Amino acid sequence: MATYLKELYCPKCDKTYEASRPQNLCECGTPLLVRYDLGRLAKEVNPDVWKGRPEGLWRYRELLPVSQEENMLSLGEGGTPVYSLDKIASEYGLKKLFLKDEGMNPTGSFKARGAAVGVGRAKELGLKALAMPTAGNAGAAWSAYTSRAGIKMVVVMPEDAPLTTQAECVAYGAETYLVRGLISDAGKAVKEACAKYGWFEVATLKEPYRIEGKKTMGLEIWEQFEEDLPSAIIYPTGGGVGIIGMWKAFNELKEMGWLRGPLPKMVAVQAEGCAPIVKAYREGKDKADFFQGAHTVAAGIRVPSALGDFLVLEAVRKSGGTALTVTDDEILAAWSHLAKTEGALICPEGAAAVVAAKKIKEMAVVGADDSVLILNTGAGMKYIELLKEKAKLLETGSLVN
Ligand SMILES: *Cc1c(COP(=O)(O)O)cnc(C)c1O
Repeated sequence: MATYLKELYCPKCDKTYEASRPQNLCECGTPLLVRYDLGRLAKEVNPDVWKGRPEGLWRYRELLPVSQEENMLSLGEGGTPVYSLDKIASEYGLKKLFLKDEGMNPTGSFKARGAAVGVGRAKELGLKALAMPTAGNAGAAWSAYTSRAGIKMVVVMPEDAPLTTQAECVAYGAETYLVRGLISDAGKAVKEACAKYGWFEVATLKEPYRIEGKKTMGLEIWEQFEEDLPSAIIYPTGGGVGIIGMWKAFNELKEMGWLRGPLPKMVAVQAEGCAPIVKAYREGKDKADFFQGAHTVAAGIRVPSALGDFLVLEAVRKSGGTALTVTDDEILAAWSHLAKTEGALICPEGAAAVVAAKKIKEMAVVGADDSVLILNTGAGMKYIELLKEKAKLLETGSLVN
């Protein structure tokens, strides 16, 4: 297959690196991004070809970094549905509210996208052992795809990471460890072990290809909305890879002339108990400080410090979006409400985005005629320990007394 992968580059200091060798961060400590030959791609590829291929993220292969078909690992990721939340929209005074359900992915979260592409590229580059800290879902996804690829995987997560994700990593055969502390503590353990054992570190944004997988959410949204993108996209932001990826997708499409209309306002939502990026946004800073005492029920966005914070802030500001917080009580209430009114059992992180839809309407970031898209990043069933409502036991075995 023709490959359009050109090089890796640093978005801070502009230094470039060869993409044919495994790379972590830039010398200056910044995450590297992937650059494609977009001019040639736009000339040689017709986007109708993408639409004619089977559903899923590999239909966008020319804009992805994996070149050999055998390295395009697939468990059926991508091609997730978009549906409307009409009852919630009318409650919030919005004309159209949509939800893209990333919980339909293999391993029950959008992390499957990053893993399919990240592990596929790691295989292509000949890597034999990968290690990462995780809040839970990334570990589960990378464990599944490394199993498929025949690559060793080491995962370290907080001991209070969701039980399903702990069990998934073990089930897929990853070496799985728990630490007392946060994802940042898990990160220290991984970094030290990688230096000692020569494992390749694949922590969020420490390798450049995970973003490329998550970028496919943006490509799908462009396809699903037939280029007439929603006015705002709300994303529950932890490490920020999803928002950075979607923004990269829209800009690549624009550069190729395949996307002409205005780009959506990118909205980052965080939990009040862990909001480093929102704090930096409010203070007008380009980078976030470590968020002390991070806590929230939404484990996927409990990330006190993110390497890509400056890229999230850039996407939010350049797009005319915003960054805001919601409380755990608001998250839990919206979570339950959505299941009971729309039949959607989403993840708590997705519920944070639902609450944000209401708030950005109140803040006039969007008007009553605008369409808003919420990213539900994972499946509700991964969080059973948080679902407190119980079924009633029939003591007599009968409903009739
Ligand atoms: C990882 C994760 C997030 C945060 O994703 P980032 O792209 O790292 O910001 C949100 N929700 C869920 C369910 C996750 O697993």
